[in-house]
Amino acid sequence: MRIQDINLNLVVTNVEKMLRRVIGEDIELQITIGSDPLHVKVDHLQIEQVLLNLATNARDAMPRGGKLHIKTEYKELDEASIKNIYPVIAGNYAILSVSDSGSGIPNDIQEKIFEPFFTTKEAGVGTGLGLSMVYGIVKQHGGYIYVYSSPGEGATFRIYLPAVMGTH
Ligand code: ADP
Ligand code: MG
Repeated sequence: MRIQDINLNLVVTNVEKMLRRVIGEDIELQITIGSDPLHVKVDHLQIEQVLLNLATNARDAMPRGGKLHIKTEYKELDEASIKNIYPVIAGNYAILSVSDSGSGIPNDIQEKIFEPFFTTKEAGVGTGLGLSMVYGIVKQHGGYIYVYSSPGEGATFRIYLPAVMGTH
């Protein structure tokens, strides 16, 4: 890993063109980032890899098109606000959310999707390695990842990365 103090918003905009290429023309891409820099200590190539993996999965979940929304935000989480997001500890976070309007993820497989080689795609299409790689990268950065999804209502992946204090 090559860790640098970097603005997460720039990581997102750096990879925007590649994301568009991945999702194609039938999927609308919306990016919501603040104008203030959002400092994190990350290997930016790995965070780009995370975004590309999540976008690839989103595309696969929207074969007839749809919408992909990528959002960054800064949040200060105190003891009360971490209650429903165990095991996140209180602190300042840069949150990266990736939401799609695709098929969604059935409840009973939501726990399995981060395991290596878990895939619901045909052999040769899916390797089942994308999300396990995403999970590993997030953990290596001291972060947390959650998935929120109801079948038919798309999926949201939310990544909490420790924010660099005082520079947001
Ligand atoms: P792969 O894409 O090769 O199947 P991943 O680890 O990237 O492997 O994803 C594992 C599984 O999680 C997928 O096969 C799919 O069932 C589910 N999944 C991941 N992202 C999404 C998504 N955005 N919408 C619906 N299902 C998803
Ligand atoms: Mg994948």
